[in-house]
Amino acid sequence: MTPIARALHAKLKTQNPKLKTMLIDGKAVAKQINEQTRGKVTQLNKRGITPGLAVVLVGDDPASMAYVRNKDRISQQLGFFSRKIELPETTAQSDLLKIVNQLNADAAIHGILVQSPPPPHINEQEIVLAIDPAKDVDGLHPMNVGKLAMGDPTALVPCTPLGCQRLLVESGIETAGAHVVIIGRSMLVGKPLGLLLLRKGAGGDATVTIAHSRSRNLAEITRAADILVAAIGRAEFVRAEHVKEGAVIIDVGINRVEDPATPKGYRITGDVAFEEAAPKTKAITPVPGGVGPMTVAMLMANTVTACQIQTGHFA
Ligand code: NAP
Repeated sequence: MTPIARALHAKLKTQNPKLKTMLIDGKAVAKQINEQTRGKVTQLNKRGITPGLAVVLVGDDPASMAYVRNKDRISQQLGFFSRKIELPETTAQSDLLKIVNQLNADAAIHGILVQSPPPPHINEQEIVLAIDPAKDVDGLHPMNVGKLAMGDPTALVPCTPLGCQRLLVESGIETAGAHVVIIGRSMLVGKPLGLLLLRKGAGGDATVTIAHSRSRNLAEITRAADILVAAIGRAEFVRAEHVKEGAVIIDVGINRVEDPATPKGYRITGDVAFEEAAPKTKAITPVPGGVGPMTVAMLMANTVTACQIQTGHFA
């Protein structure tokens, strides 16, 4: 667990020693998944195969640079062949497409990720369409979105929703028959998570409601949730009034909030007002240390899955 998450939980416990809320430790679950991924890499290595991941970054947005560095570092730690391609902010659409096509044709690369968001002059949709669906480890290509909607197990599924679902499963939280309310309808998080939780079988079979900025009586909708997922992008938006007693909360949000009391001048907070909402819950993910580490772990897992599908070696 991250020190921040541990401190928050300790503070809540001090306020209420009888607190029963379980903190879902995304860092620990991600570590466990990375170990499983490492095991699969070892098996592939025995057949002379090394999973290859290419991460492409256009521009020098500090948050994106940090994400890309982290992905590159972890993929190397897991024994992948890792290519980090950093391109200037002024990179033309045609040049980026050329690079994507080269990576599509490169047999050493099994997964391609173009870090989002690219600079405004880049047409992101065209880039996503250019990525070979078999190497689309972000799961954003319409072929993979369609497969997910159809319940096809060969779909490459976006990493964040996959991480949310896995956190629920690994924490022993039953989704079958549960009412899950997701706030947020993006193609990156809300919609694919809804599709995942609707799938038949383990980690699925939920009754799903997806809410968004035009939803009326939001608190009434969210208070009906057994599992509430916040993927909004607004700091501490979900308050105690949105939460049913005994619910589970998955907080996807990553928001930078100015805080002169911290050395960096800002702190990272989720979409949920943790101190207010957590005491009402049965379990909750902290930010940081919840969904964030899972996203990276699922990217690594997706790359191995893509490698297995491309090479036909599943051992
Ligand atoms: P997004 O594309 O901006 O989507 C946000 C969604 O929230 C939209 O559907 C929007 O509704 C809805 N929304 C905005 N204001 C609302 C309101 N007042 N009431 C109800 N719904 C509202 O964001 P995203 O890419 O899905 O990301 C969401 C959050 O997750 C962000 O904080 C992002 O940084 C974080 N994130 C974290 C990870 C991770 O690894 N932890 C990964 C990806 C994203 P409309 O559709 O009506 O506009």
